[in-house]
Amino acid sequence: MGTIGEAIDANETFWVGCSDPRCRHLAKLDLAALARRLGRDHGIMHDDVAHLFRCQKCAEAGRPRGKVGLTRIPDYAASIRQAREMRRD
Ligand SMILES: [Zn+2]
Repeated sequence: MGTIGEAIDANETFWVGCSDPRCRHLAKLDLAALARRLGRDHGIMHDDVAHLFRCQKCAEAGRPRGKVGLTRIPDYAASIRQAREMRRD
């Protein structure tokens, strides 16, 4: 799993989280918009995209630009479907 296109095809969800302890704001990443901006072949790993984001809440509060973290969530619904299908056999 390495590119934005692969993440979209795998139906994965990415969250961008603010690492400022006063904030901890969490926002869902719009993969489709990111693919339009960077191309589907652009990497989706933390080092590829984390520097592109800054926390909106911190920006509004005038706090200095802090680090953001990237969290990858697999397609749980598909995993559950697969588990059910396996149980039926
Ligand atoms: Zn923040």
